[in-house]
Amino acid sequence: MDTNGAVVSARDVHKSFGPLKVLDGIDFEVQRGEVMVIIGRSGSGKSTALRCLDRFETIDEGEIIVCGHHVSDPNIDLRALRQDVGIVFQSYNLFPHLTVEENIILAPCSVKRASKTAAKEQAKRVLAQVGLEEKLHYYPEQLSGGQQQRAAIARSLAMQPKVMLFDEVTSALDPELTGEVLKVIEALAADGMTMVMVTHEMGFAKGIADQVLFMHRGKVHESGPATILTSPTTPELAQFVGKEL
Ligand code: ADP
Ligand code: MG
Repeated sequence: MDTNGAVVSARDVHKSFGPLKVLDGIDFEVQRGEVMVIIGRSGSGKSTALRCLDRFETIDEGEIIVCGHHVSDPNIDLRALRQDVGIVFQSYNLFPHLTVEENIILAPCSVKRASKTAAKEQAKRVLAQVGLEEKLHYYPEQLSGGQQQRAAIARSLAMQPKVMLFDEVTSALDPELTGEVLKVIEALAADGMTMVMVTHEMGFAKGIADQVLFMHRGKVHESGPATILTSPTTPELAQFVGKEL
């Protein structure tokens, strides 16, 4: 497949869980430095689409290439793929029995074989990036939900990913903690990080998205620049964003 230099490229991706067709031929491309936001009702296949990019799910048909890795190839080097792709979920991202620092240095030390000293230096840097430098030695349970998500983002950044995937990272948070996490993501985007993000924060999506993918019944029902959120062309997206057509 010719990816036109895209960091993420998905072509005619199909995925079923038993009889349930979850992805029914989806296509998209994300260029370097772009932010793609995926929206849609619960159950429309957003998380599955995201998880396929990091091969937490395998696909039945189609092709996915991420940072030059042929994700749909059964012989893919998963370790190499996951060095290039960071993923943060809605919750339970950190190991509860490890401090923030231990959480952050784990993968760099084991996967990248970084020295402990170098990994700890880097832990400080990535924590500063998310505004948590003073929480190095805290355990996850001693942090607020927003701080935990920021620490989880820092942990991903420590692997120096080329693309970040975010799946509803603020959905489990109280509204007053959502903003601090979105701010970190905004700063990452401004810094040029390539991202694919599933979110229900429509105001945020409008501000940050270079492209929006509206998923409906396992298909990309409507896609385009962030303006589709205010000027949808399909009745389904109009209904989703609460607009009259
Ligand atoms: P969304 O993130 O848009 O809410 P998901 O991708 O999580 O949607 O799920 C799409 C559909 O696939 C849902 O009906 C869900 O129940 C189903 N599903 C997701 N993961 C699995 C799985 N591992 N096994 C069986 N069904 C699944
Ligand atoms: Mg989901």
